[in-house]
Amino acid sequence: MNLTSRQSSILEIVKQSGPITGKHIAEQLGLSRAALRSDLAILTMSGLLGARPRVGYYYTHKSPGDYIATTLGSITVEDANSLPVVVRETCSVYDAIVTMFTEDVSTLMIVSEGGFLEGVVSRKDLLKASMGSKDLTDLPVKIPMTRMPNIVVTRPEESVLRAAQKLLNHQVDSLPVVKVVTVEKTERLQVVGRFTKTNITRLFVQLADTDGVQGGIF
Ligand code: ADP
Repeated sequence: MNLTSRQSSILEIVKQSGPITGKHIAEQLGLSRAALRSDLAILTMSGLLGARPRVGYYYTHKSPGDYIATTLGSITVEDANSLPVVVRETCSVYDAIVTMFTEDVSTLMIVSEGGFLEGVVSRKDLLKASMGSKDLTDLPVKIPMTRMPNIVVTRPEESVLRAAQKLLNHQVDSLPVVKVVTVEKTERLQVVGRFTKTNITRLFVQLADTDGVQGGIF
């Protein structure tokens, strides 16, 4: 990790004098507390510094990689996911497109009665289905959808790190969050959430906020 000269100076001050408050670091550098806010956030988020309310900043002796792996490995999908947006298999492509606009999502989950996962449909699946002169109100969404068992899923208790790896490895924008339910001796996947690239972006921003790191978000 490349530190700016100001970040290196902050790190040196904390190594020498920590635990030390942000106010005292600012005084030593002749700067305002506000001017240091983003540097302290970066140093805290990277794990080089720890922060405790009423105590101040301290040197952790950890590498940034240790911190990121530990943090993302301990936050679960349940902590970061969104509500699922689902439609039934009988829904038309036309209505699926309307739902995608009104719900402002990029992927819809297709479910049968009881909320069991049958498939997913993405923006490009619907675009492809819309090409040509077919009547979209007559075309069921189950035609263009990707169907089970080819759906990559996550579970509420899975780490966000593992779920993020699945998004990357399978090159998809979202994963249905599912619970396994046994119905008449058959295991079915009940949709309970939606884990998306936006969830990861939000988490990333929350972790970069010093107030969040000091005690706000978990
Ligand atoms: P887009 O098609 O709009 O680029 P995605 O990259 O998410 O959106 O989807 C790419 C393809 O993968 C689509 O055909 C979609 O049906 C399918 N898909 C989307 N999410 C999943 C998933 N979780 N598991 C399996 N296939 C998926």
